Amino acid sequence: MENVQELKVLLKEKGYKLTPQRRAVLNMIMDNPGKHLTTEEIYDLVKVQCPDIGLATVYRTLQILNEMDLILKINLDDGCSRYEYNIHQDDHEHHHLICTDCGRIVEVNEDLLDSIERQIEKDYDFSITDHKVKFFGLCSKCR
Ligand SMILES: [Zn+2]
Ligand SMILES: [Zn+2]
Ligand SMILES: [Zn+2]
Repeated sequence: MENVQELKVLLKEKGYKLTPQRRAVLNMIMDNPGKHLTTEEIYDLVKVQCPDIGLATVYRTLQILNEMDLILKINLDDGCSRYEYNIHQDDHEHHHLICTDCGRIVEVNEDLLDSIERQIEKDYDFSITDHKVKFFGLCSKCR
């Protein structure tokens, strides 16, 4: 979303205004690609720019941006919701490698599961709409 005007129109369609605080939250996520920030981390970063922003506003803004598919909500089984910019503007969450030792998160660029989906659809007579995959293990530094 490079275009502020475009973002304004998108928000307006949903009945929301592009407040400086909402803009700051989205900017923070866009400026931190691959970081998978938690709500609290985003709050701490945005607070520097917008000292009077509250955690509830950040929380609500993340919900709105997620609803609009501008950001993705990621659950990495560590007890908190993380967010990242939805570069491809699609509903499909890319896959992550999670180091169980240092917590490092690596994004997997390839999505090799299309053939598996087709196989499962056939074998189980099930129409698949999405999948989420996490790989747990040790990164190169932790072995
Ligand atoms: Zn590691
Ligand atoms: Zn990611
Ligand atoms: Zn996939």
